[in-house]
Amino acid sequence: MKRWECSVCGYIHEGEEPPDECPVCGADKSQFVLLEDRDTPAPENPREAIETADTDAGDLKIPGKIQSVLQKPSVEQVATFLSRYHAHPIMVHIPNGVLPLALLFTFLALAFESGTMAVAAKLNMIFVFLAMPIVIVTGLLDWIFRFKAKLTQVFKIKLICAGVVFLASGIIALWWFIDPEVYLGRSGGAILFALFNLINFSAAATAGWYGGKLVFHNPGKKVT
Ligand code: FE
Repeated sequence: MKRWECSVCGYIHEGEEPPDECPVCGADKSQFVLLEDRDTPAPENPREAIETADTDAGDLKIPGKIQSVLQKPSVEQVATFLSRYHAHPIMVHIPNGVLPLALLFTFLALAFESGTMAVAAKLNMIFVFLAMPIVIVTGLLDWIFRFKAKLTQVFKIKLICAGVVFLASGIIALWWFIDPEVYLGRSGGAILFALFNLINFSAAATAGWYGGKLVFHNPGKKVT
C-alpha cells in the first residue's frame, strides 16, 4: 500500500493513487507526494530556518540572552514561533467563546425586551470585534507559513468567514450605539439585527469547524 502526503496540510492517504482532493484542506491531487519518493530533497520547512539559524553574532563575547535580543527575528521566524505554540487556535477561542454569549444575550434582550441583556450583548460584541484582528493576523501567518499560502476551498472559506465575523461584529457593535433600543423591536430593524447576529455566529462556527478539521483530523501533520 502506497502512502501519499498532502504537501499543504500533511494529511496522509493510503492507496495506489492519491485522492482527487484532500479531505482535510481541499488541495487537489497534484499537491500529494508519494512518501517513499520523498527521501531527497527535504521539503521546505520554515521551522528548520529557526533551528538551523546562525546564532553566531561574531567574535564578540556577548551573553546569550542579549545576543538573541540583538538578532532581529524575521517575520517568518515570528510566524513559525507563533505556529509552533498554536497562537491562532488559542486566539480564536477567545472571541469564539464570547460570541455565543453575545448571541444568547441578544436574543434574551429581544425576547424579554431586557435592557440588562442588551448591555451584556453590546459589551460582549465589542469584545469579539476587538479580538478579531489578532485572530486574523495569526490565522494569515499560519496560512502563509504553515500551509504555504495555498488558496484551497477550505482556506477560501476560512478567510471569507473571518472577514464576515470581523465586519459583522463591528456593524453589530456600532448598531448598538446608533440604535440602543433596537432590542425593543420598535425600530423596525429588530429582525434584521437578529439576522445579522445569526450570520455572524454561523460564519464563526463555519470557520471553527474547518479549523478544527485542520488541527484535529490531521494526524499526519507533525507540529514540532
Ligand atoms: Fe491537505
